[in-house]
Amino acid sequence: MNDHKTLVELQEIDSQIDALDYREANLAERDVYLALKDEVTKLEALYTSAAKKLREETALLKKHEDVLEGLNAKIAKEEKRLYSGTVTIPKELAGIQQELAHLKGQADNTELELLEQSEVVDGCKSDDKTISERLQKRTAERDAAKQRMEDELAQIASERDGWKVKREPVYAALSEDASRLYDKVRLKHQVAVTVLEGEICQGCRVDLPSIEADQIHESTKLERCSNCGRIFVKPTE
Ligand SMILES: [Zn+2]
Repeated sequence: MNDHKTLVELQEIDSQIDALDYREANLAERDVYLALKDEVTKLEALYTSAAKKLREETALLKKHEDVLEGLNAKIAKEEKRLYSGTVTIPKELAGIQQELAHLKGQADNTELELLEQSEVVDGCKSDDKTISERLQKRTAERDAAKQRMEDELAQIASERDGWKVKREPVYAALSEDASRLYDKVRLKHQVAVTVLEGEICQGCRVDLPSIEADQIHESTKLERCSNCGRIFVKPTE
């Protein structure tokens, strides 16, 4: 096989590999996965702060409950004293009644606070549930997206390995000069191999001078475009 035909074949294989590299670098599945991963991270932070708020508000509710319980115990105690018959001095009885009125006022206020705090806690619980459900849903979606991305990457890697195996004997079949030239041009152009149609380089679309074009058409060696440097091949030769 001559270098012209081999170069065409090698370029076709390398273009397949390049396309797979491009697909890998621009994987839509990766974008989907990364967006979901980001969202899950944000939801996790949101959930942590919602859970913290719920704990704090619940603790405050408990505090109000404890205060009310304490007040009710005091009220019960004072009422017992008042109606026990053991206290008979009117001044002392009036004192107990005054204390009871004061305690009941405090208990009423605490009950009101407790009621308001209950509503706050209910709101927190609802927020907590909403975030938790969203987090669960997004986490499942993220895991599925990760799987799809990994499947796609594995598929690309396997296809690329296949092309690399095919590439080896083709590259080895090139003459030393041709392989060196190809490697050099490939550093600059992904598509290193092109054809000269009439006087126009199909790689860079530049119209070459007639003399140069004629010379290239007549040559049996590997010639290059004086503008872009790509290698001209004549696959029919
Ligand atoms: Zn060119």
